[in-house]
Amino acid sequence: MATFDHFSYMEKHRYEQVVYFYDKTTGLKGITCIHNTTLGPALGGTRLWNYKSEDEAVLDCLRLARGMTYKAAAAGLNLGGGKTVLIGDASRVKSEAYFRALGRYVQSLNGRYITAEDINTSTHDMDYVSMETDYVVGLEGKSGNPSPMTALGAFHGIRASLKYKFDDSDISKYTFAVQGAGQTGYYLTKMLIEANAKKVMFTEINQGHIDRMKREHPEVEFVKPEDIYKADVDVFVPCALGGMLNSETIPQIKAKVVAGTANNILFDEDLHGNMLKDRGILYAPDFVINAGGLINVYHELKTYNKQAATREIERIYGRLLEIFEIADNENIHTFQAAKVFAKKRIETINRLHDNYIRR
Ligand code: NAD
Repeated sequence: MATFDHFSYMEKHRYEQVVYFYDKTTGLKGITCIHNTTLGPALGGTRLWNYKSEDEAVLDCLRLARGMTYKAAAAGLNLGGGKTVLIGDASRVKSEAYFRALGRYVQSLNGRYITAEDINTSTHDMDYVSMETDYVVGLEGKSGNPSPMTALGAFHGIRASLKYKFDDSDISKYTFAVQGAGQTGYYLTKMLIEANAKKVMFTEINQGHIDRMKREHPEVEFVKPEDIYKADVDVFVPCALGGMLNSETIPQIKAKVVAGTANNILFDEDLHGNMLKDRGILYAPDFVINAGGLINVYHELKTYNKQAATREIERIYGRLLEIFEIADNENIHTFQAAKVFAKKRIETINRLHDNYIRR
């Protein structure tokens, strides 16, 4: 296997910093990557995963940190992109001491990086982190569960996509196929129903989540997981895992809009971004439409105010319309247009004249 050249990768994608840390007492073994702090402190969750190799862990961390830079920039937040990955078996390593040790390393970065929960870490774990550092968000009793706010952002993103594609954002005129009724998919389906969607179908692989939907909303039709792509609907709403849109699934899609909460939904950003474009399917870029949770947690850095956070999440609507325009004007796919949009904000702020202002 070719060796992974860390510094060449950092140079190519312009990373600022990579920090390795280890705590002998707890076995804590982790990496924090800071991609870009032009707009503000780097924010990104802490992922705990049993990586097969250290290279795999650092590459995942680097990739995720860069994704956070674009996500925060496109969401209009004064945040940079960062991420932490911990190497370990989640069923064995977690303890108060383990997360307090993490908190000390986060604190040592002195606010350049702010952490939160992610895969295999919880708000409860972050409570331990907060015993050692001020630079942690997503705590119990503050901004709370991000999923309903992510779903809310996606709801406005769906409206924007409908407006752009069909010149009418009225949910009641359209049909939807939701893939995944876990946290975000569940809340988003509820919102679509409350907005009198013409028809909503869903698919799931978790029996508990299927039963919950059937019990609470018997009018929502269940479809087998392999049949969801070819559902005869206006909007395909991905709310499950990444990589679901690929060379096998995209040709099956009948919907004219793809807009949901799932991260990294395109298996290959360029290949599949172009494939959707060529088929005339409007794709709402994931890191823009699913930023509601991040926007919500950002508000925790000030005094948390749900109304203010909600207002900012609603702005996903206008932001997506702008990105769709860029894609059309420049004849590029929408994911690429979203990156152009995010980079432009970072570059513009970076070029602001550096004059002294007393505050
Ligand atoms: P979740 O685990 O609660 O829900 C995902 C659901 O998808 C699960 O119920 C799972 O059973 C189902 N699923 C998995 N594979 C499936 C398949 N092949 N067919 C049908 N259903 C399938 O996760 P979530 O928090 O709702 O997140 C969903 C997506 O949204 C993820 O990609 C996540 O990264 C992204 N996201 C979530 C948030 C958030 O606030 N939770 C924020 C941004 C992005």
